[in-house]
Amino acid sequence: MRLAATARCRRIKSMHETVTWGLIGASTIAREWMVDAIRKHPSGAVRSIVSADLERATSFAQQKGIPNAYDSVAEMLADPEITAVYISTTNDRHLPDALAAIKAGKHVLCEKPLALEASEAQTLVDMASNKGVVLATNHHLRNMDSHRAIKRLIDQGAVGKVNSIRLFHAGELPESLKTWRLHDKAAGAGVIYDITVHNGDLLRFYLGANPTKISAIAATSGSGPRHIEDSVMSIWEFPGDILVQCHDSFVVGYGPRGVEVHGSAGTILGIDVMSQAPGGSVILRTKEGDEVIPLEMNVTYERGVADFIAAIQNRGKPSSSGEDGVWSLKLARAVAQSAATGQTISIEPT
Ligand code: NDP
Repeated sequence: MRLAATARCRRIKSMHETVTWGLIGASTIAREWMVDAIRKHPSGAVRSIVSADLERATSFAQQKGIPNAYDSVAEMLADPEITAVYISTTNDRHLPDALAAIKAGKHVLCEKPLALEASEAQTLVDMASNKGVVLATNHHLRNMDSHRAIKRLIDQGAVGKVNSIRLFHAGELPESLKTWRLHDKAAGAGVIYDITVHNGDLLRFYLGANPTKISAIAATSGSGPRHIEDSVMSIWEFPGDILVQCHDSFVVGYGPRGVEVHGSAGTILGIDVMSQAPGGSVILRTKEGDEVIPLEMNVTYERGVADFIAAIQNRGKPSSSGEDGVWSLKLARAVAQSAATGQTISIEPT
């Protein structure tokens, strides 16, 4: 009885223990979403920000009321107060930044893609496991109320046996983001690293399985350099003869961004659900007619942060783990490889 009471007290204490964060990357997503999402959590405190440019770090810190600004990742990581790190630098920086943070014994919530190659991402997973720290991938779609509702409907058999999925993840980059994503190959540019990687995670979330084959064609339809794709269409085969078609682009200014899940007994329409902000709608279409599925409109990043903190506090697991990040990258790389070679790529099960 006494023991149980003590354990309960400890558990409650740990739930409210502050998790102090350092941010690596004075990025748009950190500014627009992540600082607020961390602070919304009762345990979340943001202590420091690092940028390659001290002026940018300082200005970010002032704008968001963060106490410390650095231009050295190593210096920030040397702060023992910091227990968790959020990484949102350009894609090429994720690997070295995450390696440094894990080596310093920090828990890491890293942006997608975890690295530029799946084998590098696997190294991060292995290192985090050896160090006993949590590594999570900031895949946001699986935390949106719309996509969770779609998954629930699939799992409940609301459309019978799923036979195909069409995913429209084609939009236009805002002017402020038409920078390294469009122009800097070394930084991890291109729509595949940016968008396709999210599709991989979302499809695995919906279907609870990995695809077996992927085929793709990519193009540069806009004004960027020809060796950096801004558009890609791909076809994926999942176990159970499920075919998936994805359209990802940076140059589709006015199309709806959504998903259709087709099954033997109906269709789920996810309209305007491929975004960062809460919104959009989900409709279940069957022989009974259309049913609008009621959605809560939570901020997706808040759920990701809450699950990450729960994992740190031994109360749960990250909504998208390091392993999930390895898989989404592996699938995005398969799309790129198919587009480059014209071959259909078979996906190894492990
Ligand atoms: P940004 O271009 O805003 O920021 C990325 C990096 O670019 C920053 O870390 C910063 O480097 C540098 N940078 C930013 N502004 C400037 C500037 N004015 N001049 C020079 N350099 C600058 O990218 P995003 O915030 O859009 O994306 C960051 C990461 O987050 C990417 O990996 C992306 O894939 C991911 N992402 C994930 C999303 C999700 O929903 N999971 C959504 C959006 C992005 P420094 O830190 O050195 O200052």
